[in-house]
Amino acid sequence: MTYLAVPIAADNLDQARQQVKAALAAGAEMLELRTDYLENLSVDLVRNLIAEVKASAGRQVPIIVTCRDQNQGGVCPHPAPLRISVLASALKAGADFIDFEFDNFRNVENQERIRVALSQSLTGRLILSAHNFKTRFANITKLYRDILAVYPVAIPKLVYTANHINDCFAAFDLLHSISGEKIVFCMGQAGLISRIIAKKLNGFVTFASIDEQTATAPGQLTVEEFKGLYRYEHIDSDTELFGVIADPVGHSLSPAIHNACFADKSMNRLYLPLLVQGGQREFDLFLNSVLSRKWLNFSGFSITIPHKRNALNYVRQRHGLIEPLAEKIGAVNTLLIKSGVTTDERRTNGYNTDYAAALDAITSRLKIGSDGLNGLSVAVVGAGGVARAIVAGLSDAGAKIKIYNRTVERAEKLAAEFDCDFAPLDDLQSLDAKLLINCTSIGMHPNVDATPVPKEYLKRGMTVFDTVYNPVQTLLLKQAKKKRMKTIDGLSMFINQALAQFKLFTGQTSNGVLMRKIVSASLSSKK
Ligand code: NAP
Repeated sequence: MTYLAVPIAADNLDQARQQVKAALAAGAEMLELRTDYLENLSVDLVRNLIAEVKASAGRQVPIIVTCRDQNQGGVCPHPAPLRISVLASALKAGADFIDFEFDNFRNVENQERIRVALSQSLTGRLILSAHNFKTRFANITKLYRDILAVYPVAIPKLVYTANHINDCFAAFDLLHSISGEKIVFCMGQAGLISRIIAKKLNGFVTFASIDEQTATAPGQLTVEEFKGLYRYEHIDSDTELFGVIADPVGHSLSPAIHNACFADKSMNRLYLPLLVQGGQREFDLFLNSVLSRKWLNFSGFSITIPHKRNALNYVRQRHGLIEPLAEKIGAVNTLLIKSGVTTDERRTNGYNTDYAAALDAITSRLKIGSDGLNGLSVAVVGAGGVARAIVAGLSDAGAKIKIYNRTVERAEKLAAEFDCDFAPLDDLQSLDAKLLINCTSIGMHPNVDATPVPKEYLKRGMTVFDTVYNPVQTLLLKQAKKKRMKTIDGLSMFINQALAQFKLFTGQTSNGVLMRKIVSASLSSKK
């Protein structure tokens, strides 16, 4: 079992009571009383706190008592003798675990006092912890062994800051390679996934906060996120992993969508936000690290800014399969890992679900088949990544395309590649197309009063498609609707590409209505 522990970091008893109540209501499976946060710390205060927690818990919730040294992230500069007295009295009051710093435990006097306190407790156990707030430990396995050499029945707790997601693999390797109780994870945004994967790899405890205000370490998730978004209860050693590789990744709606759809189908799969900072080198290192650890059980990825081209290059280098249009677009937004025993046998295949998602949104709204796109006159506004995917798809289907862009050279280059026309944005006043597609970010939240095409340029009989999906009803779409034009929103495209990814990931069809509901709820909660 991996306990989901909530640190109680309160200044006083009243605040502690409230936090304990909130933690238990949220579903904490263990409480860590961070007594170093308490003002006027005393042995009696901690004893009272434990008695109250035990009385109010109403169910058996294990308690860790910690009185952290300031050198290891403690809040107040309490002297070691007081901190040890607090831990000793905590054991007497019924704490299940005390947490003490391994560095301080090497001091003979400290060690003797802690050993005596433990010997007087029937059930109390010792967590020996080491923290590195700056970077990885030089040798985490040696540190783990050193702890057990000094106190063989301790539970080692090794926590370090991941400055890059690739730093997490050292923690995963330790969790995977050595059995026995241990607490291992990484701090910081780059280490966030290690707090979740700790459960799959059978870590003894992972920590969550009640809310963002009470978080005691960088990158800590809330209990609600663990239990709701990441379906903590369902994670086990067989859980298959997926994720979105991006930088930044915090705003991505994909974890909410895919996890809800996995839940909807009762699938033992989990989708994570994977913050991969840097360029090709860091991207390659991340994927190589994943491929060489089959036991992590990663099976597929969504790829977004800035890694779509890096993903394409990666698949090329490893001679994986690349969907022909993804090659032509120059971007892969979905990667699948095809199983094999060795790293070399494990293949990565690359796909692009963006263009098909847009084309599906268009054909279903216009009630035509893909052959209906042949000869259709289309004005594409924008010449960036999304425009490129849509132009590639439409050009493949035989549409007659004109690209309008602020930077005309970019439009010219894209037009030359796909054999279409181009023009500066000013030419939109003589717009004459059956379908207009906005592929710029104009009109996107928070600039919701902007539109890429003034309403007087919109002509009757035109269909207007805005790829922007936040807000769903952009000013461009509102003005088109007022003129009784057919409209297609960016959310339809977004959902289509998520549906296509889900199909690639699982071989099954997902629930588009559920996806749309989740995205709409997320977007309105962020306003
Ligand atoms: P991108 O590669 O950065 O391209 C941005 C495009 O917008 C460029 O053509 C740029 O023109 C133009 N642009 C930006 N600000 C402008 C301004 N103030 N005035 C005129 N033109 C401006 O971005 P992308 O990846 O193509 O994404 C574009 C938009 O597509 C996003 O903002 C998002 O809303 C939408 N999107 C939708 C989906 C979906 O599934 N519905 C998925 C991804 C993205 P220059 O070349 O002159 O810089």
